[in-house]
Amino acid sequence: MTVLDDARAMSDDLVELRHRLHQHPEIGLDLPWTQEQVLAAIDGLPLEVTTGSDVSSVTAVLRGGAGSGGRAVLLRGDMDALPVQERTGLDYAATGATMHACGHDLHTTMMVGAARLLAARRDELHGDVVLMFQPGEEGYDGAGHMVKAGVLDAAGTTVEAALALHVTSSFLPQGMFATRGGPVMSAADVLRVTVRGAGGHGSAPHRAKDPIPAACEMVTALQTMATRRFDVFDPVVVTIGAFHAGTAHNVIPDDATFEATLRSFSPEAHVRLLEETVRICRGIAAAHGLEVDAEATELYPVTVNSATEVDAFASVVEQVHGDGKFIELPNPLTGSEDFCRVLDRVPGTMAFLGACLPDRDLMTAPYNHSPEAAFDDAVLPDGAAVYAEWALHRLQRP
Ligand SMILES: [Zn+2]
Ligand SMILES: [Zn+2]
Repeated sequence: MTVLDDARAMSDDLVELRHRLHQHPEIGLDLPWTQEQVLAAIDGLPLEVTTGSDVSSVTAVLRGGAGSGGRAVLLRGDMDALPVQERTGLDYAATGATMHACGHDLHTTMMVGAARLLAARRDELHGDVVLMFQPGEEGYDGAGHMVKAGVLDAAGTTVEAALALHVTSSFLPQGMFATRGGPVMSAADVLRVTVRGAGGHGSAPHRAKDPIPAACEMVTALQTMATRRFDVFDPVVVTIGAFHAGTAHNVIPDDATFEATLRSFSPEAHVRLLEETVRICRGIAAAHGLEVDAEATELYPVTVNSATEVDAFASVVEQVHGDGKFIELPNPLTGSEDFCRVLDRVPGTMAFLGACLPDRDLMTAPYNHSPEAAFDDAVLPDGAAVYAEWALHRLQRP
């Protein structure tokens, strides 16, 4: 029996667990119910299990039995959901105000599958495996919390490589693995701006200090900056997602505020984008004689894969699933990931796994985070097997 055969043999169990998780989505860093399900699902396996003290994480260490002590690798699966109201119409759909719209219920389940597969092959493991079940991926930096709490050293030695899989509800064919060496997901930052003027009568702007035209100028100047100040081959994205000012057509307000998401794909562009956006807002405010509070806050840096690790991952995928199941992405994705906290410290791979429902069109199927995003259970054993095989292989590498 291959690892994949074993994974397929536990398919029904995995589907049942995934549906259960799907029906009880929890968001943020505190996922008590989900944590309980994970602990129950890995209960009885020969694992050293610890839970987070400030977040609902689960760290499980499997000790290899085939010698080469002092080596360890890490598998990451995130467990949190989103504040989205599900509209998939599936019979196991969540009914409240939260939803596993990013497929993290599949990641949690595939990690449980991998734990079982590896525990059964413990004697073939040339080192230890750290299973990182993390909360709070969706904007709460759960990975950062776990890294600070020492997950990379959970086996007593720092892990030498790490792998995270992420399902997609469209764009990748079902069962297809995809990633690239180098930057694979963007850095994400937030720009927050408050332009401070002086309110007055709409008919007499010369007696007031109108913050609105200056704030509008900032919005367009930021778009100009994105194309004039950054290399077209190292691009950035600036999207103003919120803009608020004023209460009535004939009243000049005291201030105007807006917020933007900033995305970049190289550490250099990341640093410069934080500086330039603030400089532009301050410059425009000064030109109009207005005060401004402009602050760019870093959320997540760029997620960068090791090229060597990606090559090794691709050969594991082909060994498990045969030729043609791995594609190299031509470009990074514009989303962001807190797995960057792990890949900032150890080499590894963040890879995507296509989980589009067979009756949906790849190109038009609702994408992750949509209330209609749906993920195919059929990929659960595929992902579990790749997690497990990768750990077995990576610990054999000299
Ligand atoms: Zn997400
Ligand atoms: Zn996600």
